[in-house]
Amino acid sequence: MSTNRVHRIAVIPGDGIGKEVMPEGVRVLEAAAKKFGFKLAFDDFDFASCDYYEKHGRMMPEDWKEKIGTHDAIYFGAVGMPDRVPDHISLWGSLILFRREFDQYINLRPVRLMPGVPSPLANRKPGDIDFWVVRENTEGEYSAIGGKMFPGTDREVVVQETVMSRVGVDRVLKFAFELARSTPKKHLTSATKSNGIAITMPYWDERVKEMAKNYTDVKWNQFHIDILTAHFVMNPDRFNVVVASNLFGDILSDLGPACTGTIGIAPSGNINPERNFPSVFEPVHGSAPDIFGQGIANPIGQIWSGAMMLEHVGEHDAAAAIVKAIETVLSQDKLRTRDLKGPASTSECGKAVAAALG
Ligand code: ATP
Ligand code: MG
Repeated sequence: MSTNRVHRIAVIPGDGIGKEVMPEGVRVLEAAAKKFGFKLAFDDFDFASCDYYEKHGRMMPEDWKEKIGTHDAIYFGAVGMPDRVPDHISLWGSLILFRREFDQYINLRPVRLMPGVPSPLANRKPGDIDFWVVRENTEGEYSAIGGKMFPGTDREVVVQETVMSRVGVDRVLKFAFELARSTPKKHLTSATKSNGIAITMPYWDERVKEMAKNYTDVKWNQFHIDILTAHFVMNPDRFNVVVASNLFGDILSDLGPACTGTIGIAPSGNINPERNFPSVFEPVHGSAPDIFGQGIANPIGQIWSGAMMLEHVGEHDAAAAIVKAIETVLSQDKLRTRDLKGPASTSECGKAVAAALG
């Protein structure tokens, strides 16, 4: 096996339990690199944290883009300590800047019911729920275009525009269709609401239909967002790849992981598929100040995000092996952390995943 593959990874633990789960993520990645014969060059950064903010009066140094802009990926923990720094400063001064400046127009979340994790949905077992949510991450409903007319009067009107560009819609659809094509089921679902939102959503549907012509091997369907959320809960086994605009994707990418149990295990990627800029891989959970410092945080979300990162840099076998190792560990009562009613500490759980890689 070749050993000259080197991936440069910027490591940013951030705040709170980010600092506790990150070492476990790195531990598992190192074990995977050793086993699968590639190298990971880690560079550690202390910015994008509230500690950094309190020392320097800003979340990141001025030259942050030079510092992390040429890495193959950014491995992120969590940001935010709302008691010390308001969330709008910590978040907007770090993650949101990454998304914008590095054109991470895909937000990707796997939704998979793992062994040992009780689903809030009745009668669902591992294997029943296993799909991806692809969210458009840069335009759509979250635009700053709009305003207030006649403020303070009873004629007050507020308007906020939804922006969909052909480039913006097509690129997220292309990513989603490519992902669907790479999966065994080769199926894609589009989230829409063209029965109520009469201009932008019909446009979205039109672009889906157009894009589908390039993917005749992929079967696809579409649901209005209202019934789609119901299906997430009632029939999650119907889905494979679900693609959605920024707002709808925001909702679905929280609902999906909620259907599969604890927030502590869900991973995510903010991705620039062309690799013009580094992508960010981070657990879905936040810095969890309420449990920080106790060594009880579940490291699986961080570790699984590491697997997604390896997938992104082309280490497919290693990525699959990490997900498998996570399943092995979650199947065993004594290796689970407290949020899953187990006795294991953060590092015991992380070490177990590394060991399960074999
Ligand atoms: P965000 O910072 O993303 O806005 P938040 O601050 O609302 O999120 P989290 O920090 O994710 O929320 O924490 C929500 C709850 O879930 C907290 O009670 C926290 O202790 C728990 N939690 C979050 N992550 C983990 C984890 N990895 N292991 C165990 N419990 C966790
Ligand atoms: Mg938080």
